[in-house]
Amino acid sequence: MKSINERLHTIFNHIVQHNYGEHEFHQAVSEVIETLGPVLHKHPEYAEQKIIERICEPERQIIFRVPWQDDKGQVQINRGFRVGFNSALGPYKGGLRFHPSVRLGTIKFLGFEQTFKNALSGMPIGGAKGGSDFDPKGKSNAEVMRFCQSFMTELYRHIGEITDVPAGDIGVGAREIGYLFGQYKRITNRYESGVLTGKNPAWGGALVRREATGYGAVYFAQEMLRARQDELEGKTCVVSGSGNVAIYAIEKLQMLGANVVACSDSNGVIVDQAGLNLETIKHIKEIKRERISTYCEHHPQATYLENGNIWAIPCQLAFPCATQNELDESSAITLVKNGCIAVTEGANMPVTPEGIKVLIEAGIAYGPGKAANAGGVATSALEMQQNASRDTWTFEHTEQRLKTIMKNIHDNCYETAAEYGSPNNYVMGANIVGFRRVADAMIAFGII
Ligand code: GLU
Repeated sequence: MKSINERLHTIFNHIVQHNYGEHEFHQAVSEVIETLGPVLHKHPEYAEQKIIERICEPERQIIFRVPWQDDKGQVQINRGFRVGFNSALGPYKGGLRFHPSVRLGTIKFLGFEQTFKNALSGMPIGGAKGGSDFDPKGKSNAEVMRFCQSFMTELYRHIGEITDVPAGDIGVGAREIGYLFGQYKRITNRYESGVLTGKNPAWGGALVRREATGYGAVYFAQEMLRARQDELEGKTCVVSGSGNVAIYAIEKLQMLGANVVACSDSNGVIVDQAGLNLETIKHIKEIKRERISTYCEHHPQATYLENGNIWAIPCQLAFPCATQNELDESSAITLVKNGCIAVTEGANMPVTPEGIKVLIEAGIAYGPGKAANAGGVATSALEMQQNASRDTWTFEHTEQRLKTIMKNIHDNCYETAAEYGSPNNYVMGANIVGFRRVADAMIAFGII
């Protein structure tokens, strides 16, 4: 009889061989599998029913051609993806990422993470992800529109309000969701609000959805600090990125009395020890769609570090809110040396496995993305509820719901980690809670 660890090892090796070259997917799977030993020990039915093997195999993977014409009349071809990972707890749910780095393995890692995140949120949603290697940077509105229309012309047949509900991710915001929704409505002859979330509140979007991922990550950090008899107020923070997640993490941190001294984009880092001016950042990123380096034109006291490492800026709280694997082992060591007490992931899988090890061994509060950034998708589920009942909720009511959801996620992770013998290990807590919810539903549904 093989030991549980040997069995997990065999499962992982099989996944590596059968998903060749998809390193990010292997990384996401390995992080979950590593924490499941104690669960299999307590619940042998998960092994008997081959739940891990089934959970790691997406239910469906769609790959399609996306041809479109640029402003010069040239034909462009991109590749579109939608991976429905798991629908045990509800319709497939997860964002679309438009970025030149997107490959099938990227979407699979994100869909896998999404399955556990969505389960952890406590909302009735399955896990999915999609996107394209299309690069929205430097494209005109008309080009983005033509691309979105072409993308939806294939995607529409695979989605629906009770089948699969896409939303935004990197490179997909309210503008893209607008074009995608418009094309869906046109092709299907249905005003099906619940087919996409992250819509503009003027036509069916939920208030707070725009803010939700960033705000939620800050609430999660607040709960981690509270569990250590500490608080956010007065803390020096660094937030990587300057997109939707970063902007609203900065906003909530400032509202709660923290001082955010740095943010970044893929070209460089802005450091403003006086505290970042968020109005300027919003103007640069949300209205002008420019690079963050222009911040210094408005605030000469700030410095711009081209290709700088944001994690070298001393801080007490770090919020990686840019992209996967942006915080590696050496950056984690630097953070620890500089007195950082908490790392909260606004992005998906931003800390490398070696980085996570450093943070956990140093006893730092580390909030993995599956738990800490679940506020975005949870608020998408609130948008689905509003669409289903043709209702609109106030900002205050929706934010209160988000706050309660984040506190529940935190407490579930915290208590489960302790129950399984690893107190304060939020990675373990998050993986076990998410896994068990999906696994129990899968067992109840039989072998499907
Ligand atoms: N892309 C977001 C995430 O990583 C949100 C997905 C959604 O709202 O469906 O969770």
